[in-house]
Amino acid sequence: MQTLAYGLPRLGEKRQYKSLLERFWSGKLSKSDLLAGMEDLEKERLSTYATYVDIYPAAELSLYDPMLDLAVAVGLIPERFQPYQGLESYFRMARGAQALEMTKWFNTNYHYLVPEWEEPLHLQAQPEFYLSQSSFAKRLGYDGAMPTLIGPYTFLALSKKQGHLLTPDEIERYADALLPVYERLLADLQAAGASGFLIQEPAFVLDDPLVPLIGYLYHKLARFPLYLLTYYESVDFYSRLVELPVRGIGLDLVAGRTNKEAIMQYGFPEDKVLIAGIIDGRSVWRANLIEKAKEVEGLSKRAKDIWLAPSAPLSFLPLTKAPEKKIPLLVWDRLSFAKEKLQELRLLKAYIEGDASVQGEVEATAALWQGESLGYHPPTRERVRSLVEKDFHREMPYTERVRLQSQHLNLPSFPTTTIGSFPQTEDLRALRKAYREGKLSEPEYKERIRQKIAEVIRYQEALGLDVLVHGEFERSDMVEFFAERLEGFAITEQGWVLSYGSRVYRAPIIYGDVWRPKPMTVEEIAYAQSLTQKPVKGMLTGPVTILNWSYAPPHKSKEEVAYEIALAIQDEVRDLETAGIRVIQIDEPAFREGAPLKRKDWSEYFRWAVRAFRLASRALPQTQIHSHMCYSEFEDILPYIWEMDFDVVSIEASRSKGTLVEEFRRFPQWDRQIGLGVYDIHSPAIPTAEAMASVIEAARRALPDELIWVNPDCGLKTRRWEEVTPALQNMVQAARAAREQVRAGS
Ligand code: GLN
Ligand code: ZN
Repeated sequence: MQTLAYGLPRLGEKRQYKSLLERFWSGKLSKSDLLAGMEDLEKERLSTYATYVDIYPAAELSLYDPMLDLAVAVGLIPERFQPYQGLESYFRMARGAQALEMTKWFNTNYHYLVPEWEEPLHLQAQPEFYLSQSSFAKRLGYDGAMPTLIGPYTFLALSKKQGHLLTPDEIERYADALLPVYERLLADLQAAGASGFLIQEPAFVLDDPLVPLIGYLYHKLARFPLYLLTYYESVDFYSRLVELPVRGIGLDLVAGRTNKEAIMQYGFPEDKVLIAGIIDGRSVWRANLIEKAKEVEGLSKRAKDIWLAPSAPLSFLPLTKAPEKKIPLLVWDRLSFAKEKLQELRLLKAYIEGDASVQGEVEATAALWQGESLGYHPPTRERVRSLVEKDFHREMPYTERVRLQSQHLNLPSFPTTTIGSFPQTEDLRALRKAYREGKLSEPEYKERIRQKIAEVIRYQEALGLDVLVHGEFERSDMVEFFAERLEGFAITEQGWVLSYGSRVYRAPIIYGDVWRPKPMTVEEIAYAQSLTQKPVKGMLTGPVTILNWSYAPPHKSKEEVAYEIALAIQDEVRDLETAGIRVIQIDEPAFREGAPLKRKDWSEYFRWAVRAFRLASRALPQTQIHSHMCYSEFEDILPYIWEMDFDVVSIEASRSKGTLVEEFRRFPQWDRQIGLGVYDIHSPAIPTAEAMASVIEAARRALPDELIWVNPDCGLKTRRWEEVTPALQNMVQAARAAREQVRAGS
């Protein structure tokens, strides 16, 4: 029995990856120092792998993104980058002025660069990156290292042409262009000594895979020793999959619920290795290794040759829990980040092979999860248990409560507002840092935040906005802020994970029952409201987003956790209402992305996700509930969104006005107000009043005037004041122009 692992986070123990790249980009590091730094990092990674597992990847340390690596290695380089060479071309494709599009990698929070097909094709093998990295591993004597590449099918399935995913026809056509180049890459690597290849094919788990094409591709590659890795879900064409002419096949036995059934039912070919993805590569929790050993025993009745592996790449876990000092010990003990997952693999193998010295340690892992669960809070459990249907409904239907709300709020037509945050400037970050480090007392800090709030209220009044916000100056991150204030969450100090390029984020860990010990936002928002006659919007993060952007707790359904968070948010809504807040926004930017990979699982996900939102937003009828989502792809999910039963939703509209209008036309039941994101906050460009007026006009063709709000498409925290002021002035002007038009009867 062997162990295999992959996806060890490339960030490095000291986040070297980030600093190397950023210093290089800002000109503070030469190319050779960048590469030397990356070699040191790769040394660290290889040695970690080799300490614990038998087989692991070479050529895994991408300088930006593995999909981009393959695009470059096969010469899929759009015309506009042709004048550039080497690293310059690579980083221009990654982050230059007309960089490749970036989009979410499966159901993770990582973003990959989308390969762009453009005709005429000039594909050509450029194996340098893979070659130099594999030979580096070889030189250092890491014989267990096999080059890893994204598989040809996944590469094609995630590629785009002129902004759309390749159609099945295009995939088939381009497969023929890709194949010879891909073969060349493998041949060159083999000539340089590669003993096998770890080929990553997560797209095998998506809906409607092109099975005949997959068969064709892998028959063409049959002369190479390939180990296929699939993950994130089960593969729906199991019997065809195991017939592919490859050496080994990796299956996710954690998220892919039916993979194991398929193995047990159909067996596994004797001439192939089953790479059993048995240790959860996505969760932060330690496994019960006794149970895992039993599972392997079951599998070994059907498969002769088994390698133990994580269920998915370890890339989206923090590297190690070792530096965490502030997590309660009971929780810390049960954590397993990437490095600890490697240790689990080693232990499991030793135990299965009968190594008596690990017996005690392995048995202890079973005891970990016995007895009372972490952060057990009976009143919270009871609250969730006693929920009844009416708890998921507001007292009054929308058509009636909308009348109450408009009396209450008395807003003009095309009301203007913003999404919540205002620029988070250097001095603000310094302020929060000083407070965190104890250099600023709590009363002093609070006073400074109050000053900021007062300024931003005056600022919004001067601009003439209709519904104001308090600016979110006290929040560094919309999920972490709530996680810090809720029970049941742990916050790491070093648990950084890459979100794209050198960008990192730190997800909170839900370990116990979630409940709210005291109000979280009321002080700031009530203070803001006390300064103005205009309505101030209370700002909350929704339960589905808090859940999706955190690590899930052990042994609990997502539905249950979502309801716990929802109840905590509902308590906050109540307290805001009591403090006189009449408009409350509950942000759900991660509502859609939490949807399962397979369509057949969507209705179940949206069922509880919608209910969690409704539970959180069960406000008084006169309270106007807003939600916010930063995207505009509502195709197929509009009915679910409508079910959320908010009064107003703000969405992205500036980049996609045409399609947006179409989507709402196709859903005639739509009766809720929409805050059109008329300007794209992701760009520093200042939108003109005319550009925004044209978005409003497009919307007026699809929706009744009384449903239309005017706002930016997301929070303004990443922008500078110099950009925000003229943009908002223009926005207010565009709304006023629309009011004029209505008055003039057009
Ligand atoms: N209210 C949040 C803000 O303005 C929303 C952020 C988001 O949707 N990602 O920053
Ligand atoms: Zn947003």
